[in-house]
Amino acid sequence: MVAYRHLGSSGLKITEITYGNWLTHGSQVEADTAIQCVHTALDLGITSFDTADVYANTRAEEVLGRALAGQRREGLEIFTKVYWPIGPKGPNDVGLSRKHIMEGINGSLRRLGTDYVDLYQAHRYDYETPLEETMQAFADVVRSGKALYIGVSEWTADQIRAGQELAAQMGFRLVSNQPQYSALWRVIEERVVPVSTELGMGQIVWSPMAEGVLSGKYLPGRQPPAGSRATDDKGGKDMIARWMSDEVLAAVQKLKPIAADAGLTMPQLAIAWVLQHDYVSAALVGASRPEQLVENVKASGVRLDGDVMEAIDTALGEVVARDPGLTRSPDKRPA
Ligand code: NDP
Repeated sequence: MVAYRHLGSSGLKITEITYGNWLTHGSQVEADTAIQCVHTALDLGITSFDTADVYANTRAEEVLGRALAGQRREGLEIFTKVYWPIGPKGPNDVGLSRKHIMEGINGSLRRLGTDYVDLYQAHRYDYETPLEETMQAFADVVRSGKALYIGVSEWTADQIRAGQELAAQMGFRLVSNQPQYSALWRVIEERVVPVSTELGMGQIVWSPMAEGVLSGKYLPGRQPPAGSRATDDKGGKDMIARWMSDEVLAAVQKLKPIAADAGLTMPQLAIAWVLQHDYVSAALVGASRPEQLVENVKASGVRLDGDVMEAIDTALGEVVARDPGLTRSPDKRPA
């Protein structure tokens, strides 16, 4: 079964492997496969699920709600997010204004078929709304019982500190940050991690497999396998393009003997790598098929030796992104 970790220094326990449904549910994969994936996740002991209102323009939340219907609510941890434009994309269907947060939480609860979410997250920082307004709205969402905990995603260290200070004044606190983090993308290590840890916030990290690239299935100079994200015309192909250079794919191939020596598959090595860091509360994994989850959950509880971690660093060398300046939200709200 999948191990639990505390979400930062909060009392909430979440599965260290959490299933996320970006680009898959309501989009790349058919509804019945999506529902099978969620049921497989539950059978494997995953009880934490991450989604967002913007995924598949709200359809991902609907699919997750349908898949979780009938489950004991107390046995689930459901996370969603607000910020990116949704629905008809009117001027107030976006951002972290009080209006959009209040309407956002109500829409998410309706689609998810639940009275509350466990974690409600600011999907990005909103430069057009005063931070006080955003944090007051989150405080009211918590007080109304519609969300139990509040987190952020891809905020810089300074934004996290300012948000936490206001939250404390308003009687709640930020418990988590949701950044991209993998053996290939380590930009949070220098600034975001120390500040979050000081403030009691855990990292729930996205794309721990670099969207599937760290599974090693994409070979340099070759066509991607049929049915993979790199062939998905509904958005996946565009998103994964950032990882598809021959230089990155060749470096990833060098991890294969390291995984084999550690007795792990490549996806397991990638997930175990993020879970190795105790500031990580969960790896948010994606899966387009139930079999992938069966393979991926075996990374729970794995400890990698120091020499394995070093061998990974050496193999990936210069293709690893570490510049802390790469943590950022769009300067302007998307229309
Ligand atoms: P991953 O890095 O885990 O990539 C998942 C994809 O890799 C799968 O959809 C599948 O794609 C492929 N894959 C998974 N397991 C295997 C396997 N065993 N063998 C081969 N291929 C495999 O994470 P995602 O990029 O999907 O992100 C995970 C979650 O993180 C999201 O669902 C969301 O919850 C969150 N997220 C948050 C963001 C934010 O801004 N806060 C941004 C992005 C994601 P395929 O089979 O199609 O090739």
